[in-house]
Amino acid sequence: MARPLMDLTCKDVVFHFGDKECAAFEALKAAFTCAPVLQYPDQDRKFRLKTDASKFTVRGVISVKCEDGEFRPVAYMSHSMTLPERNYPIHDKEMLAIIKATEAWRHYLEATPYAFEIYTDHHNLTYFTKSQNLSKHQARWQMWMTRFNYSLIYKKGTQMHVADPLSRRSDYYVSSSEDNKDQTLLNPVSIKLIDVTDQTYEEHQSLITDFHDTPVAGHKGVKATFNALRKHYTWKGMKEQIQTDVKHCQKCQQSKVSNQKTSGSLLPLPVPKGP
Ligand SMILES: [Zn+2]
Repeated sequence: MARPLMDLTCKDVVFHFGDKECAAFEALKAAFTCAPVLQYPDQDRKFRLKTDASKFTVRGVISVKCEDGEFRPVAYMSHSMTLPERNYPIHDKEMLAIIKATEAWRHYLEATPYAFEIYTDHHNLTYFTKSQNLSKHQARWQMWMTRFNYSLIYKKGTQMHVADPLSRRSDYYVSSSEDNKDQTLLNPVSIKLIDVTDQTYEEHQSLITDFHDTPVAGHKGVKATFNALRKHYTWKGMKEQIQTDVKHCQKCQQSKVSNQKTSGSLLPLPVPKGP
């Protein structure tokens, strides 16, 4: 519908607002002002989320159950993946769609008294329902999803009418020459413990930061930080580096209470009355 207007914004196109463009503008105006319009997100009703992922985009739509029992859309979202996200395996991309959607509508979904439904079109997502050795970002996602009350429903792509067209946004497409950038050769999910000995000191440091400094990590002590990291990564001198890092963590120094016995208060000696 908006195509003639979109074309006007393209590079090297002379701006000409003719009959075709005018008709598109009028049609858009009518569409925005006529029913069916978006629903009001009533917190006391049941929500439903539909999400989907393609090569470069994730998208979703949130609907609310109306009085007649039908679900009608409240809002749409669409997110263009970053370069590393484009290299995620397919189940991670589908999960990313759910994460982005729940982030966008967290204020509705957290407050609703009912469990909301998540419709997703990829069967691989059942992967996450079995116990796995989670990668770093998956562990973060897992923490994130614990805040919601939801049920996951699998639907075939052909039955997912609403979320699908948003994936075809041409402005989100990136030429295939960039497709190979940042490719991850090994799928971290399939390996139990990733040996990152060959990575640099800074890269190790950033791993420690993720497992110690983030709000989710919560500035744990040396042992707890080591155990958390140890579930996913290993490198030579890992424990020593964690020890030094935690010891020098500014936040820890400012707020951690010392577990040593406090020394008694100073008592002045009685002043003698005479020599
Ligand atoms: Zn700390």
